[in-house]
Amino acid sequence: MELKWVYCCPVLIRYTDVKGPKNAMLWSFLCFMYVRIEPEYEHDIGLYEHELEHCKQNVRSLFLHPLLYIFCKRYRLWCEVKAYALQVNVYVYASETERIQMINLFSTYISEWYKLNITFLEARTALRDELDEY
Ligand SMILES: [Zn+2]
Repeated sequence: MELKWVYCCPVLIRYTDVKGPKNAMLWSFLCFMYVRIEPEYEHDIGLYEHELEHCKQNVRSLFLHPLLYIFCKRYRLWCEVKAYALQVNVYVYASETERIQMINLFSTYISEWYKLNITFLEARTALRDELDEY
């Protein structure tokens, strides 16, 4: 367990398979942000930064993030593209091919995991557009 500060707000980070607390969204509403990372990913700095980005989005949205994220697909896409772009940039790659493979993997996740109704190509275009901004 780790306590991290995002802007001036506490984030509780737990490395566990257990999915609690059950009301993680409620905790977010109450300003105490919670991140659960499965133990096998404890040293995955990219995933860590990805999840912290969502906490920052939560603070920047004045804690409307959970509501916006659930009910607005465009916002959810924007959040995930930002977080995955950050994650792409955190990792160190042996080659440009490896980096492209990571972008493709995350584009698959974006198109399949978040009920966004977008294709792989649309996800990859959004992610690459975001990466070009850096
Ligand atoms: Zn995410």
